[in-house]
Parts: sequence; structure tokens; C-alpha cells
Amino acid sequence: MQLSEKIKNSIRDIQDYPKPGVLFRDITPLLANPVLVREMVQQLIKDYAGQKIDAIASTEARGFIFGSVLAYELGCPFIPVRKSGKLPYKTRSQSYALEYGTASIEMHTDAIQPGWRVLVHDDLLATGGTAGATADLVQALGGVVVGFSFIINLSFLPGEKNLKERFGLPPHYLA
Ligand code: IMP
Repeated sequence: MQLSEKIKNSIRDIQDYPKPGVLFRDITPLLANPVLVREMVQQLIKDYAGQKIDAIASTEARGFIFGSVLAYELGCPFIPVRKSGKLPYKTRSQSYALEYGTASIEMHTDAIQPGWRVLVHDDLLATGGTAGATADLVQALGGVVVGFSFIINLSFLPGEKNLKERFGLPPHYLA
């Protein structure tokens, strides 16, 4: 079976979470399968081997899971991007639109060296708002966004198109 199929089969759909009308993709069954997790990590390493990546920037909370493993495997720094008020040092903040209202995420101002080539990773791509705001932070702090990595792309939503239009980069995803 293809890796993408195995991933899709391991996602649990939760109807009406976190609010009525939303179908939430729960990745916890996937995380409970170490054989599949290993296969996913090995695929990600293969996909990024040979590319010059200076750091991985990931958004809390689920982006941290594979983002930190990927940074460890590629031997580069991991940059945590967190919701407002969660990082202890000086931060740069970026707001972005949600379906209803706005959200704000932050990165430490010293997280990126000028010109660093940064890969943005998150677990799931929906509208692209979160990954786009993470990329905005990378650029604002002097980094160069070299790619977008996800485990899952919700292809019926415009995330892929939005990131391509805004950053000229086709997002990479495993399923
Ligand atoms: P976007 O900003 O609209 O692309 O939404 C992606 C962000 O929301 C990521 O940080 C995901 O972790 C989270 N997210 C949105 N929908 C889901 C879902 O169905 N399952 C898990 N995470 C989700």
C-alpha cells in the first residue's frame, strides 16, 4: 500500500469538532503507529536530502511533532512558532485571518540568522493561513522560505493554491 494511503487510513475523522459543522482530522491514531511514523520520517528525510536547509520553523502544537524530528534528522535548528504570549524572550508577532476572526503567532526575534534558508513545516494544510503567517515571520526576521512541508493536505480547501500564489512555492505533503 502507498504511504499516502496508509496515512489517510490512519486519520480519524471527528464530526463537529471543535465546533458544529467542522470535520476534524485527528492524527493521534497515526502517532500511535510507530512503524508508520518511521516510514513517514524516512520519506521526509529522502524528500529533503541534498537540499540546503538551515532551519525548520514549525507552528504549535502539532507542527512540533514531525518538525522537531525532521530538524533532528537533517541536523539543523528547530524554530518553534507559538501562539501569542507563550515565548519567553523578545518576539515578533504576525496576525492572520481565520474563518471567523483573526489569530496571532510569534517567533523569537533572534531565531533566524540573516539569509537562513528555512523550511516551514506543519501537520496539516487547510487554508494556508497558519503556514503563510509562519512564512511571513521567517521573512520578516531575515530568513528565506525555501519550502512548505505538511503531513496532510486537505485538497478541497485552497491552502495549496494560496501558498503557491503568495510565495511561489508548491507545498510538499505526504498525503
Ligand atoms: P490553516 O491555517 O487553515 O491551513 O489550518 C491549518 C492549521 O490548523 C494547522 O496548524 C493545523 O494543525 C490546524 N488544523 C486545521 N484543521 C485541522 C484538522 O482537521 N486536523 C488537525 N489540525 C487542523
